[in-house]
Amino acid sequence: MPGPARGREDGLVVLRTLPRIDRLELAELALPEWHPRAADGSCAVLGYVVHHPDGPVVFDTGVGHGNELIDDLYHPTVHDLVDRLAEVGVDERDVVAIVCSHLHFDHCGQNAALAAPVHVQAAERVVAAEPGFTIPEWATLPDERWRVVDGDTELADGLRLVATPGHTPGHQSVVVAGGADVVVLGGQCTYTAAEFASGTVAEADVHEPSWHPTALDSLHRLRALRPTRALFSHDRTEWAPAD
Ligand SMILES: [Zn+2]
Repeated sequence: MPGPARGREDGLVVLRTLPRIDRLELAELALPEWHPRAADGSCAVLGYVVHHPDGPVVFDTGVGHGNELIDDLYHPTVHDLVDRLAEVGVDERDVVAIVCSHLHFDHCGQNAALAAPVHVQAAERVVAAEPGFTIPEWATLPDERWRVVDGDTELADGLRLVATPGHTPGHQSVVVAGGADVVVLGGQCTYTAAEFASGTVAEADVHEPSWHPTALDSLHRLRALRPTRALFSHDRTEWAPAD
């Protein structure tokens, strides 16, 4: 059994041992030529599951199925979230919470496949209602499933939601703290681990150009937590401190 949690001087609650965190390969997108990352050719869509002592917590649910617009634009290869969870020993009925980094189509597409409450920032619900922001049916749920938070929130011991606006107005990250480790699930706070390392955010990855300073500020707030690892939505490379 995990021992008692302890508090850090900056208020972060740290579990005695770090919960296991598994990466979920949720989709692969072909990037159209107008896309800012078109030179990469394709884009991995990654989610994560944190095996928290209170129950599994899923971070992002990937791309949904069967949307004509998304199929035409990105020719996605979509993997079932439920199958991916089963591969790492999680029955989807046991998931206690979903956290959406943001509500773009490739981060919330399979929310409806699970029954757990979905934690999202208030600002993200607002922007997700704007035309063209997302695929509305993937970003829509019965009211009782939403858990709308505003700013940083302790979801459980060792599990903090950190508001990291920039890529979208209500983007959030998750910080998992246990033992000597502080793991950032950064979502799309940066697109790559290399950007996280250098403290930069690509201009093309922010909501609008005016959000770039906000995105940089969010990144600096995450780095100030002295993480020991950081994991991302679209880059399989993990970040670790240089020493
Ligand atoms: Zn996005």
